[in-house]
Amino acid sequence: MICLGIESTAHTFGVGIIDDQGRVFANVNDSYTTEKGGIHPSLAKEHHVKCADRVISEALEKAKLKEKDISLIAFSQGPGLPPCLVVGMEKAKELSRKLSVPLVGVNHCICHLEIGKLLTKAQDPVLLYVSGANTQVIAYEGGKYRIFGETLDNGVGNFLDGFARHIGIGFPGGPKIAELALKGKNYIEIPYIVKGMDISVGGILTNLKQKCDSGRFTKEDLAYSCQETVFAMLVEVSERAMAHCQKKELLLGGGVACNTRLQEMCESMCKERGAKCFVPSNDVLVDNGAQIAWQGILERKKATRKTGSIDIKPKWRTDDVKVAER
Ligand code: AMP
Ligand code: MG
Repeated sequence: MICLGIESTAHTFGVGIIDDQGRVFANVNDSYTTEKGGIHPSLAKEHHVKCADRVISEALEKAKLKEKDISLIAFSQGPGLPPCLVVGMEKAKELSRKLSVPLVGVNHCICHLEIGKLLTKAQDPVLLYVSGANTQVIAYEGGKYRIFGETLDNGVGNFLDGFARHIGIGFPGGPKIAELALKGKNYIEIPYIVKGMDISVGGILTNLKQKCDSGRFTKEDLAYSCQETVFAMLVEVSERAMAHCQKKELLLGGGVACNTRLQEMCESMCKERGAKCFVPSNDVLVDNGAQIAWQGILERKKATRKTGSIDIKPKWRTDDVKVAER
């Protein structure tokens, strides 16, 4: 069985092709970026509409496959930005009808956990999923995916992008903040906000903006202090989830997990508690089509040819996913 998966929850339109043995034949992604300012849903949608057919053709070419070789279509059903999700869903329905193969909608957050397991060989990890809109500590426990901790307001990626926008360095801001942070020398105290198993970053962003506008601190020192503080919050809740679930593996997912300082902090926490830290390569940490295709394979029993009733789920929560019988 070969599945073609379409990702379009936010800035990336991606197409992955993977078989039921977990062999990745193609993972072609095209992302919307800006020089200045954040992600605008309708511009991201336009981006997806423009590149969709090309990305699909490129993925098939890369995989050295023809359309007739595809036996299943999967798409990111949510959570995500509605205008972006619709583009992926419409393309997926179009392909499903044209090729006369079944279609399955999958939950984007869970895909990060499953593709990470496939590619790193982690067995039963706690996933620290840190992306633009999402920040969740997820694990499979008692027959379902559960959220053990999450952000109470913004995703850490959007928070970093917000700070980057304030200092005028464009989108995505995470990698640019990471570069600035390397040049930071002084740790400036900013609020550290962990509430139970959850974190909150809205107040930290306000605090950083005020500190930046005061002119008393360098951008480099603020970027450095921002990373040290917020990443420590993420490591704290991840460690607590690992202790609670008695799991010995931590898996990273999401664009922010490309950050080498965050990786280093997670690795050192795992080492201290005799656990293992798994970090997939950057092309699967960020949003991508391969993760959607693999989840499609795992959930193939849910697939249907009756595509009419399928719709997007922009606010779909990880812990509301009905786990398919495999
Ligand atoms: P995703 O939604 O998972 O594709 O992740 C996108 C987010 O990852 C954006 O908010 C980026 O700013 C952030 N990001 C990407 N690379 C890095 C990095 N090296 N450090 C921190 N954040 C990053
Ligand atoms: Mg993601």
